[in-house]
Formats: sequence, structure tokens, C-alpha cells
Amino acid sequence: MKPRVGIVGGGFAGLYTAIYLRRFYTEKQLSITLFDTKESFVFTPLLHEVFAGNLPFDLVSIPFSLLSKKYHFTFKHEHVERIDQHTNTIITSSSHSFDFLILATGSRTPLPLSPHPHIYDVKSSVTLLDDVQKNLPQSIVVVGAGATGVETVCELSYLLYKKLGHTPSEVSLHLLSSTPSILPSLSSYIQKKALRALKKRHVHLHLNTKALTVDRKGIETSTGHMPAESIVWAAGVVPQAPSPFNGEKRIRTSSHLHISENTSFFVFGDVACVPHKHSRCVPSLAQSAVEEASYVARSIRASLQKKLPPPFRYKHKAVLLSLGPGKAVGELYGIRIYGFIAWWLWRTIYLFRMPLFRKKCSIAWRWTTHLFRMKTIRT
Ligand SMILES: Cc1cc2nc3c(=O)[nH]c(=O)nc-3n(C[C@H](O)[C@H](O)[C@H](O)COP(=O)(O)OP(=O)(O)OC[C@H]3O[C@@H](n4cnc5c(N)ncnc54)[C@H](O)[C@@H]3O)c2cc1C
Repeated sequence: MKPRVGIVGGGFAGLYTAIYLRRFYTEKQLSITLFDTKESFVFTPLLHEVFAGNLPFDLVSIPFSLLSKKYHFTFKHEHVERIDQHTNTIITSSSHSFDFLILATGSRTPLPLSPHPHIYDVKSSVTLLDDVQKNLPQSIVVVGAGATGVETVCELSYLLYKKLGHTPSEVSLHLLSSTPSILPSLSSYIQKKALRALKKRHVHLHLNTKALTVDRKGIETSTGHMPAESIVWAAGVVPQAPSPFNGEKRIRTSSHLHISENTSFFVFGDVACVPHKHSRCVPSLAQSAVEEASYVARSIRASLQKKLPPPFRYKHKAVLLSLGPGKAVGELYGIRIYGFIAWWLWRTIYLFRMPLFRKKCSIAWRWTTHLFRMKTIRT
């Protein structure tokens, strides 16, 4: 009988494991079943463009029904309730057993329970454009100055002040950071360039300001009440997993991406804390999830060949941060890049990562036409 691989979660970690496994084995040699609560894979690094109305959501989401045909796996549109790691069994409305089992259920950004009528999560498929066009808010507050918060606020600045022609006195943009700096996990070079961009994009930055609660009128913060007609929540990511792994913290794994003696059960991606230098975890990034997926596919191949796989070593290749249309900053293999060229590279790299050729072409076409329409931005 051919080996069966079960994958829980079709994000960057789970989907790319299926894609890499298909490089080694045909569907006649190995069966792959992928479970996801959602119907589509969402390409999160481009979501801030969707949010600001630059790209339609259907360009960054790919139905699993299409991906399963291209990469020859069975897709089950089911929510996994429970996992038995000792028998590699997944429990949905029925139970399914596998020879290899992968837990890659990622993370989520919990929105605060609040009566505020306009609170958004960048991960959902909404765009702020419609709301802004219907009823222009006087102030928009983005909570969280990590990569998602910074990219989103820069994109919103372009939307409001360049594309729609509003002025900062008509509508103000605020970014809240609970820490003394923005982008705390990135280098000081990237922080400095991002700070400069925020200033030029008329974003009011509030450092050391923790969002405590949200009411109808705005946000209660550690430094006082901040009125906001629209709130964008980009802070406080927590892992999500089926029982019994549904804790508050990322699941600590070994350097082989296992959590017990069972070497056919792998846990990785945002849900896991995969060991990295100085007892820290590999960062929660799409590129780390893809690197781990490639490792797991090679590990499964090694197991089937009765070989011992080497431990996983995370190689941080690049960080690229979009600072709104026409500008980005990053470090590629230790080389610092900034400006239009960084932005062009940022787009090209993500375009190549899209797992469906048809989507690559549609996005490339959309970006090219947008480039011609785009006003020259001097920030
Ligand atoms: C707005 C935003 C922007 C980002 N930008 C970047 C960026 O520019 N660069 C970068 O490197 N990273 C970026 N990231 C981070 C990146 O998206 C994550 O690190 C990456 O998606 C992690 O992959 P994953 O497969 O572990 O989890 P996810 O991509 O979250 O996928 C998990 C999947 O599991 C499914 N699932 C969860 N629970 C269950 C269940 N019980 N049963 C069945 N299915 C389940 C979910 O539906 C989901 O499809 C961004 C994230 C966000 C939210």
C-alpha cells in the first residue's frame, strides 16, 4: 500500500509541504490529504494591498479545489477538532489515519470584543476603500507596529493622501506601538528607514502606547483615550490548533520538528516554536514556513528510504518590508536595499512564490497597469 500523508492546515506550511512532496513522489507512489476549515489558500503578504483596495481579494486567494488538481492531493474542507498524535489520527466529523501526519494550523489575530462599529482585521477579506469612500473617517488608528501594521498604515496613507486626494487635516492616520520602537524584531536599519517613511507619509506614531480596551468612540490606551472612527487591528498574534494542542503558546518542537518520540508526526509553521539560535523560535513568517515545509518533505522522503534526516537549520535569507507603493526596505543575504528597487524586488519575489501560474499572470498584469497609473511618489 502507498504511504499516506495527512496535512492539517493549508497555509504556507501545509500547502507547500504538499507541493514539495509532489516533487519527489507521484500520486501513484504517495497519497496526500489536506484538511482546511477554509476553501482557499490566502497569500497573506499581499493582504495589506487588498485592505487598501489596490488588489481584489480573489487575486490573493486560490481555491484548494484548483490547487488540489494541480498538485494531486485530496482536499477535505473540514475543521479538524482533535488529533491523536500516538496513532496519527485526525478527528473531524469522522476519523482518518495516516502514516505521516502534519500539524500546520498557523495563528490568528484575535480582535478585541468591542462595540466599535468599524474595527478591522487585515487578515479578513475586507477592504477599507469602500468604507472610506462612503463616509470619510476623521481618524484611523492602526494598532500594532509590527510588519503588518507598518505595511498597512503606509498603504492606507497612499490610498488616502495620494489616490483619493484627502489631506492629513481631513483624515489623520495613527500607528500605535506598545514598545519603545517600531518593528522590534527587525534590524535598526529597517526600523530607521520605516520611521522616515512613516513621517513622510503623515502617520502619527505613538510609541510606548498599549491599546487596553475598545469602546464605541475609540481606544482606551495606556496613555489616555484615543478617538478613532476606524480601527485596524494588527497586534497580538496567537497560535491556533485542534485539541489537545490548543494552548496559548506556540508548541515547542525538537530540531527535527517533532514533539514526541513519534517521528512521523510533524508540527511547524506559525503554530510551532521551532528552535532557532539562542533558544529563540524561528520567526513567524511565510518564508520560514516554506523553508520548514521543504525540510519536512525531505524528512518524509528520508524516512521512506529508511535514512535519518539531519536536523532543521533555519537560514534567514531576506526581510523585505513594503512602505507603500513605490518604496520598500529590506536586507537580502546581508545586503541592505531601499527605495524603488527594493519595492520592485519585494513584488517580484512574492509573485514568484504564488503557487498558481494563472494568478501570477493576473497579479503581474494588475501591478503593471497600476505602475503606469501611479503618480510619482516622492517620500
Ligand atoms: C496580514 C498579514 C501579512 C503578513 N505578511 C507577511 C509578509 O509580508 N512576509 C512574511 O514572510 N510573512 C507574512 N505574514 C506571516 C505569514 O502569513 C505567516 O507566517 C504564515 O502564513 C504562516 O503559515 P502557516 O501555514 O503556519 O499558517 P497559516 O498561513 O495561518 O495557515 C494555517 C491554515 O490552517 C487552517 N486551520 C487552522 N485551524 C484549523 C483546523 N482546526 N482545521 C482545519 N484547518 C485549520 C487555517 O484555515 C489556515 O488556512 C503575514 C501575516 C498576516 C496575517
